[in-house]
Amino acid sequence: MTVLVLGGTREARDLARALHDDGLDFVSSLAGRVRRPCMPVGHTRVGGFGGAEGLVDHLVERGIVAVVDATHPFAEGISANAAIACRRAGVPLLRLARPGWSGERAAARWHWVGDHDSAARAAARLGTRILLTTGRQRLDRFTGPLAAHRVVARVVDPLDGPVPAGWTVLLDRGPYDLQGERRLMREHGIDVLVTKDSGGDHTRAKLDAADEMGTETVVVRRPQPDAGVPSVSDVDGTLRWLRRVRR
Ligand code: NAP
Repeated sequence: MTVLVLGGTREARDLARALHDDGLDFVSSLAGRVRRPCMPVGHTRVGGFGGAEGLVDHLVERGIVAVVDATHPFAEGISANAAIACRRAGVPLLRLARPGWSGERAAARWHWVGDHDSAARAAARLGTRILLTTGRQRLDRFTGPLAAHRVVARVVDPLDGPVPAGWTVLLDRGPYDLQGERRLMREHGIDVLVTKDSGGDHTRAKLDAADEMGTETVVVRRPQPDAGVPSVSDVDGTLRWLRRVRR
């Protein structure tokens, strides 16, 4: 009766804690991308499944009875694979995703864009000193349009390749507080913040600091979730769903 939790997020770790406390049989899955991942409690496996096909095999071989996709809202590949694999294997799937910031933010200096390329163009237009917090994976989208800008790129792990001369790479991982974010933005004279609509409190302080300081903020919209997959925004909703599907 094993539940598979696709993780790599705070929500996934909170869910693992709740399942562990309830004595449920579950395994958390991590991609293995970051060097020092925050590990959830309980059994964990690390590494890709080998696409949707590999995930189907995994579900069948391990007798998985339900999957909770608690990956990051921008982890499009694994969410798409989970939807395909669970349909094929006939295993119930739930999306657990923290609410985005769109509902609560209508600040005049927020610029919503559809993807990272648009974010790079918007940032280039809006200012000269950019705080880039969209992560390591799509950094190549920004190096061209922001080659002549002063950029502070904040990432968790070191980058694989070089960055333009005017860029500073800052290795750090949250949570961040308001005071620290204010200090960082002041120190580097930041006039544009670039972020994804990750949602949650973990990285919210930068938004508050930017609002306070009148900094232009470029926000990349979330990818569209699979309309056929039910979703919840918290651990309690996930536990209710699991109780229903495991009956
Ligand atoms: P992605 O592009 O959606 O996934 C790429 C491939 O990585 C997947 O096809 C899968 O490989 C493997 N993978 C991803 N998540 C996995 C998981 N939880 N367990 C096993 N394999 C996984 O994912 P991503 O954006 O690189 O994110 C990777 C991980 O980091 C996710 O678990 C996500 O929750 C976490 N994370 C992502 C972000 C972000 O901004 N994207 C931010 C914070 C944390 P196979 O096809 O071989 O199965």
